[in-house]
Amino acid sequence: MLIRKLKLAGFKSFVEPSELRIEPGLTGVVGPNGCGKSNLLEAIRWVMGENSPKSMRSGGMDDVIFAGTAQRPPRDFAEVVLDAVRDDGEELQVTRRIERGAGSAYRVNGRDVRAKDVSLVFADAATGAHSPALVSQGKIAAVIAAKPAERRMMLEEAAGIAGLHVRRRDAESK
Ligand code: ATP
Ligand code: MG
Repeated sequence: MLIRKLKLAGFKSFVEPSELRIEPGLTGVVGPNGCGKSNLLEAIRWVMGENSPKSMRSGGMDDVIFAGTAQRPPRDFAEVVLDAVRDDGEELQVTRRIERGAGSAYRVNGRDVRAKDVSLVFADAATGAHSPALVSQGKIAAVIAAKPAERRMMLEEAAGIAGLHVRRRDAESK
């Protein structure tokens, strides 16, 4: 699966509607401290169904909604839209929206779906919110410090081929 585009509105520091095109290949996010780099990665995880406070660096679910600054009032909803292309070439659009005090709603290709349906879309370990293809802050150091065999595992998981070894061993033992 390839992520093509990310649209955010009212999500953490991305208060105004923002759109990002993601080109094929490796994408790095750079910028000064506090500009929202980690928030972007969290937006990708969030739209894929992530809820864990640790992954989202938040206390409650509503903490992803723009909380306001001295100059700007808070927002009452956050929305992230992810455009992707599946391996079979099919286009996929996933939307997650949260309203303050009212929880999240999801849409896949414009249709209302349950959180569970979204988690099924990203069930493949190589694509979901916990995909090793999403490298967050601190992970780089872990990759560098890893032993060669561990590093190979990380890269194979990111490439989505980790399962192949298991299947090959399986086939060879028959
Ligand atoms: P660093 O280089 O230090 O890792 P970064 O680019 O990763 O920085 P982020 O952690 O993505 O920065 O963004 C932090 C900013 O997002 C802070 O200014 C914080 O106040 C803001 N922020 C986070 N959640 C919200 C929210 N709910 N409402 C408004 N601003 C928020
Ligand atoms: Mg950061």
